[in-house]
Amino acid sequence: MAMGSLFPLHPISTAAGAAASDRLLFLPPLPTPDLAESSAGIDVGNRKLKLLRDLSTFGIGGPCSFFIEATRPAHLISAARLARSRSLPLLILGRGSNCLFSDRGFDGLVVLNRSSIDETVEVVGTGRVRVGSGYPFNRLGVRTAVEGWGGLEFAGGIPGTVGGAAFMNAGANGQETAEVVESVEVVNREGEVRVLGKEDLRFGYRWSSLQEMDDLAAILAVTFRLRPAPAARNRQREFLERRRKTQPISERSAGSVFRNPAGCGVAAGELIEIAGLKGCVIGGAKVSELHANFIINTGGATAKDVLALIAFVKDKVDRMFGIELKEEIRYVPYSSA
Ligand SMILES: Cc1cc2nc3c(=O)[nH]c(=O)nc-3n(C[C@H](O)[C@H](O)[C@H](O)COP(=O)(O)OP(=O)(O)OC[C@H]3O[C@@H](n4cnc5c(N)ncnc54)[C@H](O)[C@@H]3O)c2cc1C
Repeated sequence: MAMGSLFPLHPISTAAGAAASDRLLFLPPLPTPDLAESSAGIDVGNRKLKLLRDLSTFGIGGPCSFFIEATRPAHLISAARLARSRSLPLLILGRGSNCLFSDRGFDGLVVLNRSSIDETVEVVGTGRVRVGSGYPFNRLGVRTAVEGWGGLEFAGGIPGTVGGAAFMNAGANGQETAEVVESVEVVNREGEVRVLGKEDLRFGYRWSSLQEMDDLAAILAVTFRLRPAPAARNRQREFLERRRKTQPISERSAGSVFRNPAGCGVAAGELIEIAGLKGCVIGGAKVSELHANFIINTGGATAKDVLALIAFVKDKVDRMFGIELKEEIRYVPYSSA
């Protein structure tokens, strides 16, 4: 496909026939479902049956009280209103590739965001794409690189969603999501939709101001601005090859557990490795032999095992180097009460 065309147009908007526009707001959401009912695409009948371990790359976590799978942006909006009207704690989940869930589960409404299944990527200008937040970030990275667009080469190896990447400011290989984000569409807890431009957003290392927006319910879509880069796919292949050699990508994990400490010039994984902790095991959780900043679930690991191993690693690194490691993965407790 010629550069400039990106991929075929599939509008994200929620009603048939809606005009494409880069400032498009979603059309009115579906009616808020009753918790005891199902309505098109929103199934809230899975109470207590959804195990978070089945929804996370770690494979750890107990049941959630209420569960919805959102297959359209409108479902995310409805879910936000539903959570508010029932005073339920709300958790939007992408691939669960950066989360550690409690063994007890989550006492609230979990919304599994797959809101891009039939509504993939919309081209909104040369090098600009608008993508539903449930779209796989790695697929977006590969598709854009294959078509000769640069900026998301690193995404090819990141197993999350577009929404998760914006929220976390995911990054690798010297690139990060923030560099190519033009705007983010969000819904707040009242169910109101807003478009946040670059000027409304701040990003840092694995951090975005979205993490501190008290009224944020969900990211609905992200518009990226990419640049022509004919060598993008080759660069991406190199990144993926390096990742295959250096990370335990076939094991169950949530990626890097710790942030690289600021200003010390040594990565968290190196510190853990020098501390002699590679292969260290607590219960079913183990510090990877391949990459010391990964904790893997060797089978049957509990959140308790992982938290104990995290505490052990932090303590050892602190005693040895006087450096306090900080978690990159997000621990989601059963309840915030
Ligand atoms: C093998 C492996 C390799 C990895 N490599 C990298 C890497 O190189 N670089 C890197 O940065 N990360 C990496 N990660 C971590 C992870 O993939 C990223 O942080 C990713 O961006 C998380 O996306 P997700 O959709 O899975 O988010 P989740 O884990 O589902 O959620 C993470 C947080 O984002 C919030 N969130 C997710 N979607 C939304 C939304 N639509 N609206 C509002 N909030 C939302 C969640 O509530 C949660 O707080 C790796 C993970 C694994 C397992």
